[in-house]
Amino acid sequence: MVRVIVFDLDDTLYPERQYALSAFAAAGQFLEKTRGVAGLGESAASLFAQGARRNVYDLALRSLGFAEENGLVRELVEAHRHHAPAIALSPDAERFISRAERSGFSLALVSDGWLRTQELKVEALSLSGRLNPVILTDIWGREHWKPSPRGFQAVMAQHSGLPAEYIYVGDNPAKDFIAPKALGWRTLRIRRPDGEHYRMEASTLAATAESETTTLDAVDLGALATERIAVSPLGARASSGDGWDN
Ligand SMILES: [Mg+2]
Repeated sequence: MVRVIVFDLDDTLYPERQYALSAFAAAGQFLEKTRGVAGLGESAASLFAQGARRNVYDLALRSLGFAEENGLVRELVEAHRHHAPAIALSPDAERFISRAERSGFSLALVSDGWLRTQELKVEALSLSGRLNPVILTDIWGREHWKPSPRGFQAVMAQHSGLPAEYIYVGDNPAKDFIAPKALGWRTLRIRRPDGEHYRMEASTLAATAESETTTLDAVDLGALATERIAVSPLGARASSGDGWDN
């Protein structure tokens, strides 16, 4: 019987793409203010939409015909990571958290990523009053990012009880489910069609979530509290989806 619901952050509670667009705009404003060059944010967003995930600022600067300047990309990355993001909970995540609060579940967060960046996201989403604890694994250093069990163990240290009373809700089969499964937690993959990892399949059984759904609206909290993960047909994944990145 699940008592504690623990969430991943990016692409589980809000759309990661929304963060990227917010960050590109912030980096664009930074470039315009400091160098008088406009259009970087739009250029980065367009590259991202075409599938670019690495060196986006290098490519965007080049596309603007802006001469390479030593250290500029680093400044843009800093502006990206330290901006106050314009992001909002996914509607189904907002509804799910509210339902779980009303049903008396304990809620917590385990998230990887640059510490300050993740703190700013948690602030923007007003999560610190609703999720407890909020574990940002980077506080211990990158070696404690998932699939390290440390963040999950820290949640258990606070809420005690049995591993089977915990469920981790995440989106990334490469790293989200390995540690909680090994600890004996339940696991649920949220697989929204606009998510970064929508098309990814887990490479091993140990990395595969016990259940998956395309919307948290389909998760039956009553069933979760008593015994099993029940996902209604509403959350079954369509056989083909239109990913935004293809
Ligand atoms: Mg994620």
